[in-house]
Amino acid sequence: MDGTGDRDEGADMSSTVSMDQLGQRIAACTLCPLALSRIRTVPGEGPVPSAYLFVGEAPGRTEDETGRPFVGRAGKILSDLLASCSLSRDEVFITSVVKCRPPGNRAPRREEINSCLPYLEEQVSLLSPRFIVPMGRHATMALFGMYMLPFPSFGDVRGREHVVREGESRQERIIVPVLHPAVATHNPPARWDLESDFQKLARIIHSSR
Ligand code: SF4
Repeated sequence: MDGTGDRDEGADMSSTVSMDQLGQRIAACTLCPLALSRIRTVPGEGPVPSAYLFVGEAPGRTEDETGRPFVGRAGKILSDLLASCSLSRDEVFITSVVKCRPPGNRAPRREEINSCLPYLEEQVSLLSPRFIVPMGRHATMALFGMYMLPFPSFGDVRGREHVVREGESRQERIIVPVLHPAVATHNPPARWDLESDFQKLARIIHSSR
């Protein structure tokens, strides 16, 4: 295991708030400028609670139009990669660091991530996942910041397990950063690296059961 970290939950943090209620709050959110250009918010979807939380960077065009995460080309790749780990989309919760699409699919800005991160923290509290899989550098940086884990570079932490303990119960969560599935849409040879990351994830999940 490559890292340890801690994060204290607030005593009453979201314990009585359902994921649906959180989705309604996100739909009404105007905390950052991305509210001005979005069509729909994309809070995420999947079972609650869930042992597996996958976190992307930001919604793209198709996600913005549908309000659903990872439904475009990258979403098809993600579904295939999940299947390679013997996971189905029905058993994982999928969301992103920011819940609104940045214009032109640019990367989310630091202040936008900071505005949106409390929603992800609430989702972690509601889901209580054993495994958190940030996909890509931005999601990994945000998650590592949330848990105060050292982040020398994405390459240094990618494909490895990083253990954190959370809340009064010191519940263990295992963070496993992987490449973002969209890399294979821009750069098809990167598909091999992506598959390699998910095979490492599968081995970590298998050895942790
Ligand atoms: S990206 Fe997050 S913080 Fe910004 S408007 Fe959308 S929901 Fe609110």
